[in-house]
Amino acid sequence: MTVIAGGAHARLDDLTQPFKIEASGLHGRLVRLGPALDQPLQAHDYPAPVAELLGECMALTVGLASVLKFQGTFSLQARGDGPVRMLVADATNTGAIRGYAQVTGDIPDWEAVKNAPIPRLIGAGYLAFTVDQGPGTEPYQGIVDLDGATLGECVHHYFQQSNQFSAAVKLGVAQGHDGHWRGGCIILQRSPEDENPMTQDDAEEAWRRAVILMGSCTPEELIDPAIEANQLLYRLFHEDGVRVFDPHPIAFACKCTPDRMGAAVAMLTPDERSEMTIDGKISVTCQFCNAEHVFDEAAVAALPGRNP
Ligand SMILES: [Zn+2]
Repeated sequence: MTVIAGGAHARLDDLTQPFKIEASGLHGRLVRLGPALDQPLQAHDYPAPVAELLGECMALTVGLASVLKFQGTFSLQARGDGPVRMLVADATNTGAIRGYAQVTGDIPDWEAVKNAPIPRLIGAGYLAFTVDQGPGTEPYQGIVDLDGATLGECVHHYFQQSNQFSAAVKLGVAQGHDGHWRGGCIILQRSPEDENPMTQDDAEEAWRRAVILMGSCTPEELIDPAIEANQLLYRLFHEDGVRVFDPHPIAFACKCTPDRMGAAVAMLTPDERSEMTIDGKISVTCQFCNAEHVFDEAAVAALPGRNP
């Protein structure tokens, strides 16, 4: 019935907090995002419903990345035929996250979007889960149709079809009165090893109960900066006992560098290049962080693999 604190100082924001429910042995993660979410969302001028959906996608990506055991990058991508053509977020095993939304059409107003952001914003399409462990490894990819009104429902649909793992998810993202975005995610993970000592009925009952307790968390509580991660977990699961482990820090970080952007420019055809050249310079903006990388004539000439 106690919370065993992992660190001396509780970190308030931008963390993944692993926990275990003592009575059932079920494991979970609580993700709290403040500046790590606010920064990438503020870097773009997204309409509010798009920023909220992208925020959910990023919070979910952090949560899923932390339950998967890998070295490298986990990414979640939704593509469809709606006004948001693509939504993408990725997280590394070291806690760097980023994401962006490609908006190609008019975004309906908030009232029209709020109960069904997936069909209204993304439309018909698919959700892809990718684990990339770097050069020389085979990336894992799982794909499922976008089937659900919310991102949470779509990901449940994925879990139902997946034999990789089973999990339940709760998401919350909102822009505070101060204008800053905050986000949160709780993931409960179901694994046969944890349930071994229990009968199937008991394991089923323990799972059902944990999902109900998680579901009792309101979106406001999930992102409330006044409630610490440990406090929130205690509030939700204290009747069954909850143990917390060392939290992992999360930060917004983009992988774009002049070299990587140069490689992208080097792949353009001569026609594409001349189209993009303004005042003798090619300027490329990173979709994730909005940073602008400028290549002047000399820099373009120095790029590898250029056909004159
Ligand atoms: Zn970038």
